[in-house]
Amino acid sequence: MPVLYRDERVSEAMRLVRYLQSNVESYGVLLDHEITCLLALPKALKYFPPLNFDDLITLGSRGMEMADQLMRNSTKTEKRSATISLDDVTLLAPVLSPPKIVCLGLNYKDHAEEQGRKTPDEPVIFMKPRTAIIGPDRPIVRSRLVKQLDYEAELAIVIGEKGKEIPVSEARKHIFGYTAFNDVSARDIQFKDKQWTRGKSFDTFAPIGPCITTVNQIDDPNDLGVSARVNGELRQDSSTKNMVFGVYEIVHYISQVMTLEPGDLIATGTPAGVGVFMKPKPRFLSPGDLVEVEIEKIGTLRNPVAKEVQSS
Ligand code: MG
Repeated sequence: MPVLYRDERVSEAMRLVRYLQSNVESYGVLLDHEITCLLALPKALKYFPPLNFDDLITLGSRGMEMADQLMRNSTKTEKRSATISLDDVTLLAPVLSPPKIVCLGLNYKDHAEEQGRKTPDEPVIFMKPRTAIIGPDRPIVRSRLVKQLDYEAELAIVIGEKGKEIPVSEARKHIFGYTAFNDVSARDIQFKDKQWTRGKSFDTFAPIGPCITTVNQIDDPNDLGVSARVNGELRQDSSTKNMVFGVYEIVHYISQVMTLEPGDLIATGTPAGVGVFMKPKPRFLSPGDLVEVEIEKIGTLRNPVAKEVQSS
């Protein structure tokens, strides 16, 4: 069956994906169950677009314009021949190796309340290593060292333009787009250590995707639905409206501490409903579970949970 390109959907949301097709990496625009490969639309620009998705992100707003022009300046026939089914590709993490991943703790009032804590008067930040990144559908691996595996649905900011000391009013210019993020956490280790590094840094503890929705497609990032489901059961159901510090304040605050660079990810915190604070007793993730993080205007990030395969 031919895969048809539906022109009218582009203006609704530019959702960019990185993927593998026949072991070759590319990137394109996601439309429902199809991808239009941007590298297969060479006639639309006077120059060839960046071969690597990271380079497009690094171009910031120029990269976004390029993606937009590639779609707008190509004919329907060109776009149709550049369009493939999602079934024929493997989606990858939209950012494979960010310079850094900065995360916020306690950034939702209800999540602070469920653990009997006050909301902070300035953002509380910690970091995750980039080796924790996995893409959609890849397994979250429960290490033999972890007993209490948990999920956290979060909106993540993808930085486009480098910046330091970014004023709140300028923050939007430095954002390339947004993706869904699961701040996977080993609660036993996190609470034992009384800080976050070890409990949140295991390989596979930073699933992201399935796409980046570019910043120009989201009018208000502080008004997006955020939810998590485990095996289809709704566990978290909130909105970024309930964040203590909004997206632009977060960018401003973090950039006072460290230079933000293209591809940096900022995970903006999680609402109530994580497994460890469930009543009457905690409900942790087990191998075989399926976790879904859904963010409005971005999509659903799905990851199964697997047990560690020990090498002999
Ligand atoms: Mg978190």
